[in-house]
Amino acid sequence: MKIAILGAMPEEIDPFIVEIPTQIDYYAGNKFYKAEFAGHELFIAYSKIGKVNAAITATLLIEKFKVEALLFTGVAGALKDNFKIGELLYATKLAQHDLDISAFGHPVGYVPGNEIFVNTSKKLNKIAVKTAKDLGLTLKSGVIASGDQFICDDDKKAWIAKTFGADAVEMEGASVAQVCSAFKVPFFIMRAISDVAGHKAEIDYDEFMENSAKTSADFVLKMIEKI
Ligand code: SAH
Repeated sequence: MKIAILGAMPEEIDPFIVEIPTQIDYYAGNKFYKAEFAGHELFIAYSKIGKVNAAITATLLIEKFKVEALLFTGVAGALKDNFKIGELLYATKLAQHDLDISAFGHPVGYVPGNEIFVNTSKKLNKIAVKTAKDLGLTLKSGVIASGDQFICDDDKKAWIAKTFGADAVEMEGASVAQVCSAFKVPFFIMRAISDVAGHKAEIDYDEFMENSAKTSADFVLKMIEKI
């Protein structure tokens, strides 16, 4: 099967490049690593940060490289107290917290023609749960809200958690979800917590991002063996 591995930043996909010998292909300002792993053809890339960058790379992976499933791996800020730094969660559904035409009476996150939430693949989520069980790892699940902002503010954090019932916040997942859903490609969004998205979250982020990025990538690597 052709499987895409997508991250936003080099640190999020580096563990794959280290573990697997790859070939490189450049296209549209993106670097795509190709590899054979566990009987699959992998297409590995980082998009650069933010929803637009992530949407471009996800679209290329699907349209140019014809991937049949997409696994996102990376880090996120926790919005609820039960998610601690270093913990893993996969998204059950995702929304864009900065998409706002509420001036016209619509709910935040909604634009005509789309739903507020995009659901992830139940089949891939099940494989993740089984992988965690077999490895004896704790894997949580939750709602992820994405937007083009690094959230490091207690009021904003509380607003996103309440408005979307969200457990974690990041800057790419919901756009990847929208692209995959439009192309009917099953997708999975894995995140390890790097910070708790409140005041001065950037300090925790700088300290824990690399470790959390590796935790997430290592998990996805194991998960591929079960696909
Ligand atoms: N390290 C970068 C900036 C990181 S932006 C630099 O200095 O260039 C944060 C990245 O981690 C995004 O890709 C986002 O998806 C994720 N992320 C982690 N914690 C986040 C938070 N609190 N709010 C939003 N995104 C967060």
